[in-house]
Amino acid sequence: MAAAAKSATAWPAEEVALPAADEILNMRGALLGWYAAHKRDLPWRATRDPYRIWVSEIMLQQTRVAAVLEHYRLFLAAFPTVEALAAVSEPEVLAVWSGLGYYRRARMLHRAAKVVVEELAGAIPNTAEGLRALPGVGAYTAAAVASIAFSEPVAVVDGNVERVLARVAGWSAAEAGFATRVRTFADTLVHPERPGDFNQGMMELGATVCLPRAPLCLGCPWQPWCRTRGEHAVPVRRVQQRQHGARVVWLRGSGLKEQVRLVQRAADASLMAGMWELPVYEPIAGESPEFTVRHAITVTNHVVEVYVARTGRSRRVEGEWVLVSELAQRALTGLTRKVLRRVGCMT
Ligand code: SF4
Repeated sequence: MAAAAKSATAWPAEEVALPAADEILNMRGALLGWYAAHKRDLPWRATRDPYRIWVSEIMLQQTRVAAVLEHYRLFLAAFPTVEALAAVSEPEVLAVWSGLGYYRRARMLHRAAKVVVEELAGAIPNTAEGLRALPGVGAYTAAAVASIAFSEPVAVVDGNVERVLARVAGWSAAEAGFATRVRTFADTLVHPERPGDFNQGMMELGATVCLPRAPLCLGCPWQPWCRTRGEHAVPVRRVQQRQHGARVVWLRGSGLKEQVRLVQRAADASLMAGMWELPVYEPIAGESPEFTVRHAITVTNHVVEVYVARTGRSRRVEGEWVLVSELAQRALTGLTRKVLRRVGCMT
């Protein structure tokens, strides 16, 4: 196959015909042209700094772009270089990451920054293979950073890219060899000279046009080559669970001495290990909550009634007292931060 960036596994041409070599060239051109005209203006697209691209890719895992933007800005303001990140403690990293969720990502990013500084003299690996060896860097992130920051011609394959290519080729995820086919197709398509733009174009196409439920085929640069054009069923995401609970904002003191009761999650908890949160609360009969908040964590929608109280009442609440003025330095769970902002304890 002409101009393929990687040969990958042999393709069973009699079973599945890939586009011909000249069509591959046309598909690349169409995607790059569309991407140049339609790409969203995002801060990590204005840099080739591998550290900044790496941070963005880790933050974007399982998180919407809109939710990442402000955290990305704050994180890079606090830790502008890999050396700055490696130099601080884990709680400091978690405090800045707080609210973005999936805290294991922050821990692994911090650990990887230490490896880069202490074992690689501060040089971030410039190949996908080298990046893959860092803690918390999977195949997708390694390919994204290597192609965008270092122009290595490796294809990224995530759920979005998989969906786009499956629709273009007309494949079902239930077919044998689906993952290998998608990987081979992606490796064949990736632009050998502009892999970073090409990969970002593919991700952008999946995120904004070839949408999971209703693809916008009329605006798609690959419509001429697509075998399904919106007629292809793809698996729908898992249905969200709903869970109800109650938390308390338990306060004492006033002014600079005002404190709030917080509980630290277990170090071996499967979610948000070591983070601080508001205590669980059992309301007294007839007691009404101040307000209710909704908060999504992985596949669960939490509906939480929030009670606000001050010491002096005959209740004992677990946890320890934390100065309200020092909350910003704590690694708080996203729900806790949301509630504390709502009651005016944080900005
Ligand atoms: S034509 Fe439609 S289904 Fe095909 S890749 Fe484009 S948006 Fe997706």
